[in-house]
Amino acid sequence: MVTGVNAGRHRLFDFWERDLEIYGFRLTNASFRAAPALWTVLSERDRRVIVVNVPMTFPPEPVNGVLVAGRDTPGLHSSFTHPTGVREELERVLGCPYVIVPNDWRWMRLGRPGKAREELLNEVDIRFAAVRHLTRTRDWDFCMFVVSATDGAAHFFWHLHDPAFPGHDPVLAGQLGDVLLSVYQRTDECLGDLLEELGGDVSIVIVSDHGSGGRALRAIHLNRWLASHGWLHFEEDGGPEGRARHWVADGITRLKGVAYSLFPYQRLTWLRRMWPDRWRRWLSGYELFAGVDWSRTQAFSEERRGNIWINLQGRDPQGIVEPGIEYETLRSEIIAALESMAAPETGAPVVHKVWRREELFDGPFLDCIPDLLVEVESPSQFSIHRGDHSGPAIRLLTEQEINALTITGDHRMDGTLILHGPGIRSGVTITRVDMRDVLPTVLYMMGEPVPVYAEGRVVEEAFLAEWFAAHPLTYGGVGAQMRDQEGYAYSEKEHRWIEERLAGLGYMD
Ligand SMILES: [Zn+2]
Repeated sequence: MVTGVNAGRHRLFDFWERDLEIYGFRLTNASFRAAPALWTVLSERDRRVIVVNVPMTFPPEPVNGVLVAGRDTPGLHSSFTHPTGVREELERVLGCPYVIVPNDWRWMRLGRPGKAREELLNEVDIRFAAVRHLTRTRDWDFCMFVVSATDGAAHFFWHLHDPAFPGHDPVLAGQLGDVLLSVYQRTDECLGDLLEELGGDVSIVIVSDHGSGGRALRAIHLNRWLASHGWLHFEEDGGPEGRARHWVADGITRLKGVAYSLFPYQRLTWLRRMWPDRWRRWLSGYELFAGVDWSRTQAFSEERRGNIWINLQGRDPQGIVEPGIEYETLRSEIIAALESMAAPETGAPVVHKVWRREELFDGPFLDCIPDLLVEVESPSQFSIHRGDHSGPAIRLLTEQEINALTITGDHRMDGTLILHGPGIRSGVTITRVDMRDVLPTVLYMMGEPVPVYAEGRVVEEAFLAEWFAAHPLTYGGVGAQMRDQEGYAYSEKEHRWIEERLAGLGYMD
């Protein structure tokens, strides 16, 4: 959305990134982003920006204007604004603490949905109040902000919103069934007020990166599934030793959870460096892949998503699959098997499509992306198996598990794009648009040249033909350095990363 390029180029594939030296993952943040964001491009061109609460903007970038980082910010007391002091200013004006993300999850887990509802609506109010203050007090050409509550409300209140959801409680729905709708209505009202204040010459782009729907009420344990096909092997060491390993794995997960909420990212990186590498490898492997016998494993999954990695020679520390024919044959076999995976309740296919990574992505960071990506309707059905290797690979949740679910809504692939402003056709529905089209379209609306490296297109069909003809689309401007794919300009930091990785593969010593 904000870079106009795919994740193989901008690098932020997920909140985690595979550390190829070990079977482990590191947390990502804005400093990992390899492609300039919209606000970077605009800042370089001396346009003034306001950016509020966009995910993956921490640590805050020194933009030409104001940037208040989003959900990857490690707490209100970290330095998450550019310039510094914006949080204090906002809190003075708001008369209450600033909100980065609503505390919805915490209240739902504590069994207090009424408090979660308050927090969600409060986030909408705080967000718009912050944006209104910044747009009133700064000169600006571009303002982008993200409302988190629409996503949270769909995740936490789907079971009360949708009467067809199993375990839908009509009494509770009578009190809280309207939370999802009211969060959208509150957002809509606030947006209306903001637009009225801004006046008619402002162009508006409303965009979501995904849709929402109900959570599928089954669990897919990809590592068990791979094991059932003989592509993954677990160590045969149940008994006290095996159980001890799982306690260790469980303990690490909990400790890391505490550390991530206590320490800013830089401190975590510092902490990681203090650990002997031997420990790091050992613990990391334990955490997500407890009990995997790497010497006999051809494919594995981190299970948080529908991601599958091939245990590849020359890339993975204990890789056994040869690159080339063996790798391709294995991927084809896994794809065929996955596409025939049937839902236990209906026998219908579960998997929409399995993608080879190069079908969706390309660029210098392709290696950070899993070898296979499994697309299903509701991605939360991918579940971590937590050390129990014996159960079924795909199963329905029990009634008890369904009733205990905190998250009942899930993402859908399709999002929304709404355009409004000078030159935009009104009352028409545009057909399919790619996420990467947002950056070129926004730049075009601002009368700015589109960087030549952008993979998306200007959504031309949204504009009046005569207006489009009178405002020719231009390419170029600052930020065009990414076009040259061979000579991709790595920053110092990326250089170090690549060197480390090559050293891990034994290419540089
Ligand atoms: Zn979400």
